[in-house]
Amino acid sequence: MEAVLTVAPDPEDRWKPRPVIVTRAQDMAGCRGMRMGYAPLVALMEEVAARGLKKVALIGIPCQVYAVRALEEEFRLDKLYVIGTPCSDNTTTENFHTFLALLDEAPETISYLEFRADFRVELRFDDGRKKLIPFLSLPISKLPRDFFPLTCRTCVDYTNALSDLTVGYMAGEGDQWLIVRNERGEELVALLGDELVASPPGSSGKRAPHVAAFITNVERAAGGLPLRSMPNWVRPLVSFLQPRIGPKGLEFARTRLEMKAAETVIHLRREQPGKIKNMVPAHVWRLLEAYGLRPAEGEQKEPG
Ligand SMILES: Cc1cc2nc3c(=O)[nH]c(=O)nc-3n(C[C@H](O)[C@H](O)[C@H](O)COP(=O)(O)OP(=O)(O)OC[C@H]3O[C@@H](n4cnc5c(N)ncnc54)[C@H](O)[C@@H]3O)c2cc1C
Repeated sequence: MEAVLTVAPDPEDRWKPRPVIVTRAQDMAGCRGMRMGYAPLVALMEEVAARGLKKVALIGIPCQVYAVRALEEEFRLDKLYVIGTPCSDNTTTENFHTFLALLDEAPETISYLEFRADFRVELRFDDGRKKLIPFLSLPISKLPRDFFPLTCRTCVDYTNALSDLTVGYMAGEGDQWLIVRNERGEELVALLGDELVASPPGSSGKRAPHVAAFITNVERAAGGLPLRSMPNWVRPLVSFLQPRIGPKGLEFARTRLEMKAAETVIHLRREQPGKIKNMVPAHVWRLLEAYGLRPAEGEQKEPG
């Protein structure tokens, strides 16, 4: 590639994503890490054109990739490679700082945060320490209701379907999960040669009870009722059991996809019912059939 468009930490605030055009391989490592925040990445295409760059890769979350695909022809590039990450939710960097402050007494020393497929969040600190927090111990109830915007709560492209290659953790069990979607994705993977050690993803556990319980909770919360939370004394036990007997590998990825699909319908019904027929595609309804969530009258486009 001549350039990679991605986001780097802002020099003033390492959690703020700053769109960058990377032209030296050694500068890619500085872009690593998940940072919550909105980054106008696609706007950099104007600079790409001004600099005459023609063979470009872009690493982005689904909403950025949608925009880039919609405008792709206008960019007149010779080659565009799109590497996408899955993304369940994003928020403002300001909100993310509030979240970090609830996780540790010295949030300014947190250098890395990642949600993991073993039902835990991993934190790393400047002094090299690591901390794992079970999802059930996260201070979710202390976050404001609008912590995640409606656009994220109702996004139906969790797995970044328009990318050439999706890289995420969801169906991995500690390692990354790759979805090679087309020939360009294959080209990218081939570039890694022997550096990539790949094996088919595993799958175990049963998602249905987890998704059903999640749906009940989201419906209660969306209806303004308190979350049906488990007693504090049960939490450590469930946190211990979840990574051991909960869904793993592909089954974990399916669990999250179905949860996200349900969230979309529940939040749209509550906040923007008129948009359902245009925003919820047929495959999302199919994912929800097993949980009794079916389109009501007017919630699907008329055929033809
Ligand atoms: C807001 C957000 C939510 C995510 N949710 C999920 C999820 O639910 N499930 C899942 O499997 N994966 C999710 N991911 C992807 C995950 O965090 C990892 O990026 C992915 O597993 C790839 O790992 P890696 O070690 O190769 O990434 P790294 O080497 O750390 O690379 C991460 C890439 O993401 C870019 N990036 C970081 N923050 C942003 C941002 N705000 N906007 C755009 N690009 C950004 C970085 O610049 C870098 O290029 C999410 C990422 C983001 C940014």
